[in-house]
Amino acid sequence: MNPFEQAREQFEQVADQLELSEGARELLRWPLIEMHFRIPVRMDDGSLKVFDGFRVQHNNARGPAKGGIRFARNETLDTVRALAMWMTWKCSVADIPLGGGKGGVVVDPSTLSKGEAERLCRGWVRAVWKNIGSDVDIPAPDVGTTAQMMGWMMDEYCRLVGHYSPGVITGKPLSIGGSVGRNSATGLGVVVTVQEALKHLGLDPVRCTASVQGFGNVGQYAAINFVERLGGKVVAISCWSPCERCSKTIVKNDGLDPRFLQSITDVYGTVDLEKAAAAGYAIEDGDVWLSKDVDVLIPAAIEGSITAETVHKISSRVKVLAEAANGPTTPGADAALAKSDIFVIPDTLCNSGGVTCSYFEGVQNEANFYWTAEEVNTRLVEKMTSAFHSVLDMAKERNAYMRNAAQMIAVDRVVKAMEARGWL
Ligand code: NAD
Repeated sequence: MNPFEQAREQFEQVADQLELSEGARELLRWPLIEMHFRIPVRMDDGSLKVFDGFRVQHNNARGPAKGGIRFARNETLDTVRALAMWMTWKCSVADIPLGGGKGGVVVDPSTLSKGEAERLCRGWVRAVWKNIGSDVDIPAPDVGTTAQMMGWMMDEYCRLVGHYSPGVITGKPLSIGGSVGRNSATGLGVVVTVQEALKHLGLDPVRCTASVQGFGNVGQYAAINFVERLGGKVVAISCWSPCERCSKTIVKNDGLDPRFLQSITDVYGTVDLEKAAAAGYAIEDGDVWLSKDVDVLIPAAIEGSITAETVHKISSRVKVLAEAANGPTTPGADAALAKSDIFVIPDTLCNSGGVTCSYFEGVQNEANFYWTAEEVNTRLVEKMTSAFHSVLDMAKERNAYMRNAAQMIAVDRVVKAMEARGWL
C-alpha cells in the first residue's frame, strides 16, 4: 500500500472516533507546504547530475515542523508526505512543542564520494533555506544521512543567513552543538516504555526475556538498556548479513552481552558473525528472532516485519510488542494484534525518544548552554514515562487499542492547537 494512503486511512479512522469537523479533517489530510525541487551537483568526474529533492511540512500548529531527511533510492513525494504526517503525530504524542515535517533526496548515498555528498547536502539547503530555520522547520538525519551531513547543512545555512544558527538542524556532531545522549536516546526511550508496560502488566522485568530485530543505533541501545536498566535478558538479536545477503539471528538462551556485540558491530549495524560465533554465540536463520519463547519482542530494523501470520504464531507467548522501528507492523498484523492479548507499544510512542532528544538539542542551541548526559537522560525518561501514561490512560478511558489511543491523543492535541490559533 502507498504509505501516504496508509497514513491517511489511519487518520480518517481516528478522525471518526474523535468526531472531527470536516474543516479539521481537510487541514490535516494534506501537508500545509510541499516543496519538490531539483538539485544540480557537479560530480567528481566533471559531469553534472541533477537530483530530485523534497521537503514537506505537514503541520506546524504546535510549533516548527520537525523531521529527518532521507537519502534513499526509492524516495517519493508520497513517502515523504506520509512520514511528515507521522512526525506530526509523534511530536504530539511525545508532547513536545513541534509539528511534523520530512525531507528527502532520490539517491543511493553509498554511490556518492564524500565531496559529492557534501555538495548534494549544501545544494539541498540552498533549495530550502528560506523555508527552514529554528522557528520554522528543523530537519535532522534519517535513513541514509549522517551527523556529518547535518554539519555541512548547518554550515551552508549559516553562510546563507549570515549568522551562526545551529538550531536550524539537529543530530549534528557534538563539536558544533549536537546533544550528548542523542545516540542512545531512541533505544533508551524504547526501554522506558517497555518498563512501564511490564509494570502495567504486573511482570517483573528481571524475569523477562527479549528478542530484538536489528542491531543498529536503535537495536543496540534497546538491547543494552533492556539488560542494564531493567535487568532482563536478551536472548536473540537478528541483523542483516551483507556477505550472505540475508538476515541472521545471534542466539544465546541464557542471555547475550549487548556491549560485547556492539564492540564487534560496524557503523551500519552489521555484526561480525564470525567473532560472535567464536565467542560462543549460535548463529541461526534470520526469522529465528520471532520464534524464541520471549516476553518482549522489539522490532528495531525495517518496516513490515510483523505480519498477520507472525501474530498468530507469537500470540500465545509474547506479552509485549515494542515497535522500536517505524512501521514494523503491517495493517493486517495490526488488525490481528488489536484482537490479541499482546500489549502493543505503537511506534509513534515507542521510538519518540529520538525526536525528544532532538528537541532537547534545539533547546540547548537556543540557550547556547549545554546539559550533561545525566540531565539529558533524566529529562528523557520523564518525558517518555509521561507520554506512555497519557496513552495508556486514553486506552483505558476509551477502551481503545494502544495505537488508536496514541493517534487520538496526537490528533486531539493538534486540533486543539489549531482551534486556539483560530484556524478552525
Ligand atoms: P540502522 O541503519 O542504524 O540499523 C538498522 C539495523 O537493522 C542494522 O543492524 C541492520 O543489520 C538491520 N537490518 C536491516 N535489514 C534487516 C533484516 N531484513 N532483518 C534483520 N535485521 C535487518 O537504523 P536505526 O537508526 O537503528 O533505525 C532502525 C529503525 O528505527 C528504522 O525503522 C528507523 O526509522 C527507526 N527509528 C530510528 C531512530 C533513530 O534515532 N535512529 C528514531 C526513531 C525511529
